[in-house]
Amino acid sequence: MDAMSEPQPSPSVLTGLKRGLRHRCPNCGDGRLYRRYLKVSPVCEACGHELGLYPADDGPAYFTIFIVGHIIIAPMLFFPWIWEASPWLVVPVTLIPLTALTLLTLPRVKGAVIGTLWAIKIRKAEDAPS
Ligand SMILES: [Zn+2]
Repeated sequence: MDAMSEPQPSPSVLTGLKRGLRHRCPNCGDGRLYRRYLKVSPVCEACGHELGLYPADDGPAYFTIFIVGHIIIAPMLFFPWIWEASPWLVVPVTLIPLTALTLLTLPRVKGAVIGTLWAIKIRKAEDAPS
């Protein structure tokens, strides 16, 4: 009997979210979730949980666009200097920090999505191509 077939207590979505936001394995909270930027480790180094089972797909990109676009960019448009200053000033002053923010947010959101998928037990089908 392997670890996946043993009865487990129902995991909390909040636990999965918190562990994913910290780039940690949703199952144990100790092992690293990524081996490189956005590249999920196939197996947790701490508990051996198969991290490659969770089909995050485009969800992290969508939620990152939602967070950065709706919570940061939309309110920024209410500041008059955005419309009055030269585009040669506005574009670098806004795009460089937004790009950095997006690149910092994306792995955290991907971790949160994977943590949520772990909590609600959504996994790739065994016979699905990866
Ligand atoms: Zn683990």
